[in-house]
Amino acid sequence: MFPPVCLFCKEAERDGACCCSRCLQNIHIYAHDCCLACGVELPESLAPGPCGHCLQHPPPQSQTHSLYQYNGPVRDAVLAWKLQGDDSAVRWLVQQAMPRLRESIDEHALLLPVPMPLSRMRKHGQHHAANMCRWLADDIGCAWDWRILRRIGEQPRQSALSGSARRKNLRKAFALAADYEQRCLDISPTPNAVWLVDDVLTTGSTLYFAAKTCLDLGIAVKVLSLARTSYRG
Ligand SMILES: [Zn+2]
Ligand SMILES: [Zn+2]
Repeated sequence: MFPPVCLFCKEAERDGACCCSRCLQNIHIYAHDCCLACGVELPESLAPGPCGHCLQHPPPQSQTHSLYQYNGPVRDAVLAWKLQGDDSAVRWLVQQAMPRLRESIDEHALLLPVPMPLSRMRKHGQHHAANMCRWLADDIGCAWDWRILRRIGEQPRQSALSGSARRKNLRKAFALAADYEQRCLDISPTPNAVWLVDDVLTTGSTLYFAAKTCLDLGIAVKVLSLARTSYRG
């Protein structure tokens, strides 16, 4: 009925591909050479780290994986998902990354979306990191639960705050559900890895406190994000 269009630029795509060649050129897979602990890009000779920062201050998560650089068509796709509810391009990006994801995540993993403040979830009616967990879990066959790791209290929008104000604000922003042990037992009694999943990693401060909340209760976590800026917070 409609001519096929590129999911990213919405231009007609004669070959029926989901992504035109021009957009494909501008989609950048996140660096392979990076610090395994925090995910920051490193020269090939220094990968997998730890980087200088992690040597001094090891992060609470043991690994950080990001799929794409947050720019160009990837950024447009994330904004279309968050602002217009159009997840088609983001789902395509996740689908393209599945072979790579299956190298690190299998059916014995447990995925926990990084929670967003309840007020924002109510406003948008969407929990994007949870959607991402569901897509991954459907494909891989692993467990996920959005109620184990929670946001508590209400905080001002993170993007409106400076780096140090963000960290202060986030220190008490997360908690595990009171019945988290039972919930974990019910859905994934012996996970081989617990992954915190988020859509975009910017400064990493949200993830730091989310991961620390888990680690403080004895749950070792790894981190996965769909996209990542190259900024180091
Ligand atoms: Zn395109
Ligand atoms: Zn590092």
